[in-house]
Amino acid sequence: MLPGGTLLHVNVAVIGAGVAGLACARELRAAGAQVRVFDKARGAGGRTATRRTDAGSFDHGCPALVRGSWLLELAPLGIEHAEFAGREVPVPSMSALCHVLREGLELTSHTRVESVVPGPAGVRLLAEHAVDLGTFDRVAVTAPAPQAAALLADGAPDLADQAGEVPYSSCWTALVAWDEPIPSADDWHREASPGAPVIWAVRESAKPGREPGERWTIQAGAVWTAAHLDAEPQAVAVDLVAALGTTLACGPVRPPDQLSAHRWLYARALEPLREACLFDPASGIGAGGDWCAPDPLPGDPGALQDLPGVPEALHSGRALARALLG
Ligand SMILES: Cc1cc2nc3c(=O)[nH]c(=O)nc-3n(C[C@H](O)[C@H](O)[C@H](O)COP(=O)(O)OP(=O)(O)OC[C@H]3O[C@@H](n4cnc5c(N)ncnc54)[C@H](O)[C@@H]3O)c2cc1C
Repeated sequence: MLPGGTLLHVNVAVIGAGVAGLACARELRAAGAQVRVFDKARGAGGRTATRRTDAGSFDHGCPALVRGSWLLELAPLGIEHAEFAGREVPVPSMSALCHVLREGLELTSHTRVESVVPGPAGVRLLAEHAVDLGTFDRVAVTAPAPQAAALLADGAPDLADQAGEVPYSSCWTALVAWDEPIPSADDWHREASPGAPVIWAVRESAKPGREPGERWTIQAGAVWTAAHLDAEPQAVAVDLVAALGTTLACGPVRPPDQLSAHRWLYARALEPLREACLFDPASGIGAGGDWCAPDPLPGDPGALQDLPGVPEALHSGRALARALLG
């Protein structure tokens, strides 16, 4: 390490291009490390996702961001955001957040890391069919905790044990569009009852900077999702549309013109570790994400409970970079 925290010629792999992974990678790169980011998905974003369809776009993961001083940390990046439903939404889409965070980073997408193997020359990453992704001085794992636990099992079993303790809830989300408006005066509804079939329903076009068109994203509650975990996506979407009319108190809504559903198996960390991140100096492997949240979570009025989310992922990613640099 050079004075001022500069780390030249250190080669770091970051697994995961969500908020935590990108925040981690940015800090590492700023300190002079050589950083490669790998993600199994098509691009950056993770659960801050936006799906583009013929009918327009849907923020089908995290729908909005809680307000707080943490947003000031994003200000230097120039991420545009605006008020919606007492929260903030990035403009023009939720995915804009990670599009900005990933600028200047080397991201290898469509690449699922299968194993993280420490050895005398460094930590080797292997993809499917044992494809060698390279050997690195340090590795940051930022997948959701259950997936992180599997990746950490060989190289850092103590960290794997800790990650393996974090339970997650799942969430079915329906993406629905009509050619004509449905008769709802409300643009969004958040449900406080944990057993409710629908906990969030949002008219996407009502969010600032979105395209016009009658598109709704409907999030199912954790209890309902657990009871329908292995159901067919089309059947789930039909059920959630049927529940929408009751949720919005606008009476039955007519069958939509476009309908699909996405299942988030690991949507929200229910009991995060009270540490900012995990790091094993012996192997050079660390881990973090929304499942590492050291501070009591800020009150989020209207939330079912104070679950960690994007702010915690951002802070954990940064803490992980500092641990790897240390
Ligand atoms: C439906 C829903 C609603 C939500 N609502 C809110 C909310 O209201 N407020 C809030 O703050 N948060 C909310 N969240 C949670 C928030 O989106 C997450 O806490 C945050 O985005 C987590 O960021 P992360 O970087 O820790 O993880 P992720 O975003 O999950 O990123 C992890 C990345 O790792 C990649 N990955 C995993 N395994 C591998 C592998 N083996 N190889 C390569 N890549 C891999 C994944 O593809 C993913 O891109 C919500 C999430 C969902 C799904």
